[in-house]
Amino acid sequence: MAGHHRAHRAGHRAEVRSSGATAAGGLGPSAPATGQAALASSPLVPRLQRFGTTIFSEMTALAVEHDALNLGQGFPDEDPPAAVVAAAHQALDAGHHQYAPGPGIPELRVAIARHQQAWYGLTFDPDTEVTVTFGATEAVAATLLAVCEAGDEVLVLEPTYDAYTAVIAMAGASEVRVPLTPPWPGAEGDRDAWRLDLDRLAAAITPRTRLLLLNSPHNPTGVVLSAEELDEIARLCVDHDLLAVTDEVYEHLVYDGEHLPLATRPGMAERTVTISSAGKTFSCTGWKIGWACAPPALTAAVRTTKQFLSFAGGTPLQHAVVTALGLPTAALSAVGELHRARRDLLADGLVAAGIPTTRAAGTYFVTADVAAIGWDDGAAFCRWAPAALGVAAVPVSAFVADPAPVASLVRFAFCKPDPVLAEGVRRLGATRHWSSR
Ligand code: PMP
Ligand code: GLN
Repeated sequence: MAGHHRAHRAGHRAEVRSSGATAAGGLGPSAPATGQAALASSPLVPRLQRFGTTIFSEMTALAVEHDALNLGQGFPDEDPPAAVVAAAHQALDAGHHQYAPGPGIPELRVAIARHQQAWYGLTFDPDTEVTVTFGATEAVAATLLAVCEAGDEVLVLEPTYDAYTAVIAMAGASEVRVPLTPPWPGAEGDRDAWRLDLDRLAAAITPRTRLLLLNSPHNPTGVVLSAEELDEIARLCVDHDLLAVTDEVYEHLVYDGEHLPLATRPGMAERTVTISSAGKTFSCTGWKIGWACAPPALTAAVRTTKQFLSFAGGTPLQHAVVTALGLPTAALSAVGELHRARRDLLADGLVAAGIPTTRAAGTYFVTADVAAIGWDDGAAFCRWAPAALGVAAVPVSAFVADPAPVASLVRFAFCKPDPVLAEGVRRLGATRHWSSR
């Protein structure tokens, strides 16, 4: 087996990127010039110049341009449950057109608190510990802007969801990436793929570390952290007096194991901001109704920044999400069952087509190695495939600082109807016989 690959990869150290650094990974824009030249060419502040158009927008634009199957950006093709759409109509008809209270309508804060209690046994006071946000994205941004000083270090798992890197830079903080171990080249269904090395996480903590920004179920790898891993992470947070911010938007899309919020682990309730949103669970990614649950002092901090980012948005949709969160438990579990079957269809299909693919424990995504169909450069493959194959995907290299260890890995979204997935597999499998660059 390719033991040397593992050794090589394990040798990668956690990376510190200060907000002023210009290293660009994967498909990111090339490093800008700094100083006067950059200021003259763009009004964007230097620390944000490495952020171009997001990889999701870029690949969806290619999918639209070429009428390709969009297995890139993660959004479902189906509508939210009919009762939820009906509730949105009713809210409009009932005249809910004006500003909601800054922290969100009381009914939704109650519904969120009930959800946390029912699913995880977590108790939050809707008045002082629950805040409705403009998607999970705003919750993450409001939290980091509230609690990070310039120069503070923020730990993230790598591959890293792009919005984290951007908001850390906006806050003037430094991102410290702790790489998950990529699958071995050629490994099929490697159970060790993308595991978190807890020693490496511990080694990344410094006196400047302010918080851990944790995403489980994890985009793009599909990893779901176990109780043991979460306990060890909790121990590190408590020992080093770190805050934790958790992005749990895929909490109901878990196929192996179970989703456990970090806030349920010992010592964590008092130091964690637990974030999620309605987008994935209820197939309404365009509604951008999210939330942050945290003890009162943290909630007050988050509300302070949140009120000046958007104040409050989506009043009628907040009402509809009350209905969504009130759906029977079975309705939420059904979303997981549906996507488990889709994951299997796509992952089994790709493996059968000769493309090694990891079996995601959660999320909308699998990662596959397109070296098997002749592409060592996944980013080049993703730019080529929409026009040539009629399939859009996202290169894993877009989520990392150093693309080399993941160069041929590609993320495919499986939140699509079976015929779309089957046709995607067929098109990808067909390339095996005539792949070219
Ligand atoms: N976090 C992760 C890990 C995501 O994949 C996404 C994409 N849906 C978001 C946050 C964005 O969530 P929202 O649309 O609720 O802002
Ligand atoms: N979270 C979605 C994904 O990972 C994309 C969201 C976005 O386009 N910003 O595909």
